[in-house]
Amino acid sequence: MKHVYVLGDGQLGHMLHQAGEPLGIQVFPVSLYAEPELVSVQQSIITTEIEYLPKTALTYQLVTHNNFINFKLLSFLSDRLTQKQLLNQLNLSTVPWKLLQDNTQWTDIFSAFDALAIVKSRVGGYDGRKQWQIRPGEENTLPFDCYGQCIVEKGIIFDQEISLVGARSVDGSMVFYPITRNLHNNGILLISIVFPEIDNHLQQEAEKILGIILQELNYVGVMAIEFFLIGDQLLINELAPRVHNSGHWTQNGASISQFELHLRAILMLPLPTPIVIAPSIMINLIGIELCELWLADPLVHLHWYNKIIRPRRKVGHLNLCHIDYVRLNYSLQYLSKYLPLEYESRIIWAQQQLQ
Ligand code: ATP
Ligand code: MG
Ligand code: MG
Repeated sequence: MKHVYVLGDGQLGHMLHQAGEPLGIQVFPVSLYAEPELVSVQQSIITTEIEYLPKTALTYQLVTHNNFINFKLLSFLSDRLTQKQLLNQLNLSTVPWKLLQDNTQWTDIFSAFDALAIVKSRVGGYDGRKQWQIRPGEENTLPFDCYGQCIVEKGIIFDQEISLVGARSVDGSMVFYPITRNLHNNGILLISIVFPEIDNHLQQEAEKILGIILQELNYVGVMAIEFFLIGDQLLINELAPRVHNSGHWTQNGASISQFELHLRAILMLPLPTPIVIAPSIMINLIGIELCELWLADPLVHLHWYNKIIRPRRKVGHLNLCHIDYVRLNYSLQYLSKYLPLEYESRIIWAQQQLQ
């Protein structure tokens, strides 16, 4: 039996574990803070569920492990500065950005980026954490330790956010899912929708961009790329060198989930393109209690993470997949009765995409 250790024991590690079971693959998510003596990785394959690896006793020990997939890539992909530099070296379009070094830069920043600058911590941010939206006059609200530790981006107005999840195997072959349309608020993903009958031009463009990155890095496994769409132009927001929230729909809407795809890629198992035949919707459950009545709709797949509920914390997601748009709409309508009021506009957004 093949053994895989996942650094990080959050929901992504657990969903990798679930995906391994039917394939006879034992996947062990481990806390980054686990005692190294208690983790016997030996000949196992090591992967991660997060991009930024803090220095802990365990990560320190694993630095020298031969089977740590993508190890050398993680530190520079998890730093927004080196990630952006890589994208720009490859001539791939990103949002205009600069390194934020000191507070004398603001005049230049606002003359280049107009009225809104988004400051992002170079490492460790997720779900919009460690980000600050700064308008002229608000510069002093920024914590002083941001200087040198952050990049700053132009705050842009986009038409849509989309993402692409793909995987590369050791032999360089690559597969991709259809592009996913995503709705965020305050930096956190609320809902995603995907259609099998893809916009060919966008799909090809997105695959070309992610393909260039995967090949350049000799990356192995699943990677996601987030884009802003302006007209028909794709601007890269960020890369996630791991399974990704906008790929959770694949658990119930694709013949191979992103979690299984990642395991296949890192274990050198066959990696065919996953088949997607129907639209899917994924609704993130954020800081709310589980409601059993969600399950009364037969399309609803509940994925509950068993985490302590806190505001802004992702505690589960719902997947819906059906070939018939009317049926999907019906389920959305049903769910909106049993979700908090703030989910209504997300559901309307998904219904609009179905029209
Ligand atoms: P994730 O949870 O996806 O890892 P993150 O914390 O790394 O998120 P980003 O993806 O950089 O953060 O930003 C979160 C969201 O904030 C984006 O999906 C987008 O909605 C908004 N955003 C980020 N950068 C910009 C920008 N330059 N202009 C406009 N909106 C932005
Ligand atoms: Mg991110
Ligand atoms: Mg993001």
